[in-house]
Amino acid sequence: MTESSDSTTTKLDLGFDPDELRAKYRAERDKRLRDDGNEQYVQVNGKFAHFVDDPYVEPGFSREPLTDEVEVVVIGGGFGGLLAAARLREAGVKDVRLIEKGGDFGGTWYWNRYPGAQCDIESYIYLPLLEELGYLPREKYSFAPEILNHSRAIGEKYDLYEKACFQTEVTGMRWDEESLRWEISTNRGDRMKARFVCMSNGPLNRPKLPAIEGIESFEGHIFHTSRWDYAYTGGDCTGNLTGLEGKRVGIIGTGATAVQCVPHLAQSAEQLYVFQRTPSSIDVRGNKPTDSAWAESLESGWQDHRMQNFNTLVSGGITEEDLVNDGWTDIIGNLITIARSRPKGESLTMEEMGARMELADFQKMEQIRSRVDDLVENPATAEALKPYYRQFCKRPCFHDDYLPSFNRPNVKLVDTQGRGVESITEKGVVVDGEEYEIDCLILATGFEVGTSYNRRAGYEIIGREGQTLSDKWANGMRTFHGFQSNGFPNCYFMGVTQGGFTANFPHLLNEQSVHIAYMVSHGLNNNVHIMEATREAEDQWVDTIKQMAIFSKSFLENCTPGYYNNEGKPGQGNSLIGGQYGGGPVAFFKILRDWREEGSLQGLNFE
Ligand code: NDP
Repeated sequence: MTESSDSTTTKLDLGFDPDELRAKYRAERDKRLRDDGNEQYVQVNGKFAHFVDDPYVEPGFSREPLTDEVEVVVIGGGFGGLLAAARLREAGVKDVRLIEKGGDFGGTWYWNRYPGAQCDIESYIYLPLLEELGYLPREKYSFAPEILNHSRAIGEKYDLYEKACFQTEVTGMRWDEESLRWEISTNRGDRMKARFVCMSNGPLNRPKLPAIEGIESFEGHIFHTSRWDYAYTGGDCTGNLTGLEGKRVGIIGTGATAVQCVPHLAQSAEQLYVFQRTPSSIDVRGNKPTDSAWAESLESGWQDHRMQNFNTLVSGGITEEDLVNDGWTDIIGNLITIARSRPKGESLTMEEMGARMELADFQKMEQIRSRVDDLVENPATAEALKPYYRQFCKRPCFHDDYLPSFNRPNVKLVDTQGRGVESITEKGVVVDGEEYEIDCLILATGFEVGTSYNRRAGYEIIGREGQTLSDKWANGMRTFHGFQSNGFPNCYFMGVTQGGFTANFPHLLNEQSVHIAYMVSHGLNNNVHIMEATREAEDQWVDTIKQMAIFSKSFLENCTPGYYNNEGKPGQGNSLIGGQYGGGPVAFFKILRDWREEGSLQGLNFE
């Protein structure tokens, strides 16, 4: 089957015309392509600087600056930092200090407490260290408070509170060649030293603002979803936003966050305007309580097995069973059915496989679009809510109440036809020349992804011979396996830095943590002072990343703009997916495992 095959039988069998859909996807993408790409967003400062303040702590916190030394400093107290610290502890590394900007552990789940906040990935594979903590989540999909509590429980279990520095932002890191230590400075006046540093700053940690004309002039109440203003809205993360009674509310953005909070806004606001540029793909949520009989049947090692099973399926692999069996794995199940329908004994070329993958994707998205028709009464609103792009061009969403919210008389979808909000005035939001007057504007506009690593981290890293990481990465990231960069010894990056991207992000963080713990404990046990990626190993890995990225480039180019494809400019800047290992997470995790098993720590220099 080739791209242009469109036999009548195929159309009849499928119930849609692949060529027509392809053309429609292209037209929808073209509407949204814009020259300014990432530049359409601005930093949260000036009038909006308070958008990144911590609303969950008492003001006035202070403590004595620290000038001591620890073996390992871990920057970031979200899942990545917690996992790294936990795996280090398990590997016998005791002297570990976490530094965290927030007032507690939890990372993204510490900051994001908007009404309805919930994780789209099944809780049994998303919440880390379940077996280690002897905990089983209450439901198939956990709500934010349970995830935040679990983060705290990890901190308790691994004794990470004692040395942790909360409400502390790293302001700089400098390698000292004399003491062979990292010097870490913070906004609390600390000048501490560490032999190893592990950075888990989070991939989506800095809220971003759209540079919409007039945004500064709005005189009503305004906030970003990542710091929900309950003092204004009333209620809590379960809803009941009594402060919105009699209020006209506007929300800009229709991504995963908006999908979860819109149903609560719809219930409480007198009038809700949802300003949409691109509709999300909204599949069935289907949450349910944890089955106690199933829980009792679980055997040791079940969580890792389940995580691997999910990861294989969502990375395009085939397994006999689908343990998670939800919207994420559904598209792959679809693909397998189509792939298996080939005549006996015939094998498929890569091109044929790609074409079948595309067909399966069309089918899945047709199902998503027909779900909109089933749930939304007004045909024009329903049409505007239908996503026309391939499923993994944007983060797929799952919700049972979002679409029906548009049937309420107090909720209006303001579709901007892919152009975005035109301008903002003192009184409201303008689309197509019409001003929608509102009392409160909520920005569900997401987080910085395409900006530089240092800008998102909030600090500069100065390595050997005074070289800064910004300079070294000015033309793109350079790492060995995504962890280390030549010139920056004993320093490890976590997250989406040239590793294997997976839908279940904590899975990647766990594999990275195990690997970092292996390297650090090796360094400490063998009294190695410097462990640094060699230039050759780094060059080779960067080449591998570039060569393999070619596989996903045409897919990303054809996608509607978003942070997955650097806002329509894949290959330039730091798109979330394009700069990752193109062989997929299953192969990437195997590379790491094989490297550890081989045992000679190839690619690292020791002093
Ligand atoms: P996103 O970046 O996904 O969404 C931002 C939204 O703002 C998009 O709909 C975007 O439109 C819209 N937007 C931006 N500028 C304008 C404009 N000028 N006019 C109109 N609309 C505009 O942010 P989210 O906070 O929703 O989600 C971020 C990520 O956080 C998710 O992708 C997901 O990875 C994670 N998340 C995970 C959850 C989970 O279940 N685990 C829950 C919530 C979030 P456009 O699409 O056209 O760019």
